Amino acid sequence: MSTPRHLLARLRSLMARGPAPLPEIARLVAAELVAEVCSIYAMRPGDMLELAATEGLRPEAVGRTRLRVGEGIVGLVAATAHPLNLPDAQNHPDFAYRPETGEEPYASMVAVPVRRAGRTLGVLAVQNRAPRLYETDEIEALETVAMLLVEPLAAAGASDGAEEGVGATLPRRFNGSVLVAGLAIGPAVLAGAHAPRRLLADDPATELARLAHAVEDMRRGLDEMITDRLPAGSKATPEARDVLEAYRLVAADPGWLRRVGEAIRGGLSAEAAVHRVAGELRDRMRRIVDPYLRERLADLEDMAGRLLAALNGDCEPDPVPKGAILLARRLGPAELLDWHGRGISGVVVAEASPAGHAAILARALGIPAIGGARGIMEAAEAGDEVILDAEDAQHAGPSGQVILRPEQEVKLFYQRAIQARSERRAGWAALRSLPSATRDGTRVRLMLNVGLALELAQLEATGAEGIGLFRTEIAMLARGAIAEVQEQAAVYGRVLDEAGERPVLFRTLDLGGDKLLPGSPAPEEENPAMGWRALRIGLDRPALLRRQLRALLLAAAGRPLSVMFPLVATVTEFCAARALLLAEAERVRPAPESLRIGTMLEVPALMWQLPELLRLADFISVGTNDLMQFLFAADRGSPALAGRYDVLSPAMLSLLAHLAEQAHEAGVPLSVCGEAVARPLEAITLAGLGISALSMPASGILPVKAALAAVDLPAFRELLTALRRTGAAESSLREPIAAWAREHDVPV
Ligand code: PEP
Ligand code: MG
Repeated sequence: MSTPRHLLARLRSLMARGPAPLPEIARLVAAELVAEVCSIYAMRPGDMLELAATEGLRPEAVGRTRLRVGEGIVGLVAATAHPLNLPDAQNHPDFAYRPETGEEPYASMVAVPVRRAGRTLGVLAVQNRAPRLYETDEIEALETVAMLLVEPLAAAGASDGAEEGVGATLPRRFNGSVLVAGLAIGPAVLAGAHAPRRLLADDPATELARLAHAVEDMRRGLDEMITDRLPAGSKATPEARDVLEAYRLVAADPGWLRRVGEAIRGGLSAEAAVHRVAGELRDRMRRIVDPYLRERLADLEDMAGRLLAALNGDCEPDPVPKGAILLARRLGPAELLDWHGRGISGVVVAEASPAGHAAILARALGIPAIGGARGIMEAAEAGDEVILDAEDAQHAGPSGQVILRPEQEVKLFYQRAIQARSERRAGWAALRSLPSATRDGTRVRLMLNVGLALELAQLEATGAEGIGLFRTEIAMLARGAIAEVQEQAAVYGRVLDEAGERPVLFRTLDLGGDKLLPGSPAPEEENPAMGWRALRIGLDRPALLRRQLRALLLAAAGRPLSVMFPLVATVTEFCAARALLLAEAERVRPAPESLRIGTMLEVPALMWQLPELLRLADFISVGTNDLMQFLFAADRGSPALAGRYDVLSPAMLSLLAHLAEQAHEAGVPLSVCGEAVARPLEAITLAGLGISALSMPASGILPVKAALAAVDLPAFRELLTALRRTGAAESSLREPIAAWAREHDVPV
């Protein structure tokens, strides 16, 4: 057999004058691979593969032999987008016999898909009489030929179904947790994927030199990252250093770089060779179950992405198609910000829970997002159509769905849903400037949960009355480090400027748990959510907390200031934090016009310290995300527990009713924040319990306002009181509350 390199060299000269005719390519491939048959199938409209050229099968079959996607070996390869290597193809369960081809004598077959932007454009197949398994380098050569076939196939009229909106490969569905509610349809962009611009190269020596250069650049980049992220001489961050050092070793791993070198010597350009090896890694990952190896391969794949970026040199990143949906294995906060700037309309992360960074930031940016969609990176290609269905969160708990390459009817269904959603939104827009009140005129203040300066525009857009929760850690997470006092003060100052007369409740850093800054030591904890986090860190590292408090006071610059602390478990902790703030306030001039010091209520133990707490706190904000997880001992990030316990349970409603009563008697303002508040049914119920301030993500403000405006609060209160009496043994009162809302035309 001649070498794959020889095949590529001949193909290159054949194609030098433009797209070569398919029969010539088939003849050349058959001759070079010493195969009796080489056939090229082209995708035709209606997901039909048609024999477009053949060397070895009967010529009269060309243009006549047709297979549906999914039918026969060729159809299967098109459907799965993966090669098949079969020593005895005719006894494969999917073999479809087509008498006009005269293919009876050929036992073995290898077929590879021809793909363009995530869609199948055709299939290239080779057959031999003798039963044999084809060698890896033969399959690789065929895959390279398949890459080169894109243009000739398109020139020969092959259609990848893009214009009909039909995916040529089979649809796939993935479940995940809803990180941010919403619906989106768009083409996939894959984080870390860079398509090679040039496939073949004349001179392997030049390509090897380019590779060596790019590897050097990439290593230098990693070294800089390690030095930048970890302060020089730092002994405090051995884990982070280990991780980055391990990453650096992977970058220098001779095994995969050797594979890239071999592919270059086989006739590929450096970027095509890296692309090829990355594809192989992805294939291997699909089969590996060992988590350590998977992680290592994931690192290697990530590295391949960096290497491609380095090879593309100073080229601008490829533009993101309009409304694209980003698919990522994992996603750092800075990366997500970068993609957001490039115009994505949704995010799917294979490994992320609702409480993780990606989730927090996506929520802050208002991008619909799903996490924990395992396996999606292995199944998707750039350009695949994606439906992101994170709509369920409004109704039945956080379970979302991602559909890759949806069927036409499914896509139509979602397009209609998106249309209906935007019409509903248009209806809500009229509510923006009206005050928020129930039908009988009871005022309920609606405020925003915010974490980034860029979200402040939502104040105007939604007509929210203020910021009920400013999560100060979000900007730090996005930045990757804790900012210095002046820099923090500038951020907080901008928030106050933007809010103007509207109140802002700043929450001090809620780091720890899963909200870790890169480079900061992560203590080994079995239950990080209940571990060394939030105010606990602040009290154990008072210098850190005091710097933040100083920044807040400086930012206020004589204006009113409200500060609250996260994860307070005892009144003593609250007093200690309050004392730090008061001490800082003594030193900062000008003093704020007023200083209100409050607490989050997220730990159930505070419920049994209410009299003391209400004497000391200027206000209380209930964080239902954490309160639910601690009240029911149910990890808020666990997809397996999602939806199992309900905010509308008698237990939670009793707690909130009691708290509202006590706070009211003590004259201490009470608000509730947390994701649940953004759902109209939950929001009207909280109002029914006597809670008159709700703080939520921007997406909730107008729908909640619309629901409140339709509720007759005295009547609804009666229902709630009765339900809490009769349904005390139920695990949730959601159904009867929802039934009442429906009967009374409350849009929930
Ligand atoms: C909460 O726990 O409800 C809350 C608002 O805080 P976070 O989601 O930031 O933990
Ligand atoms: Mg919390």
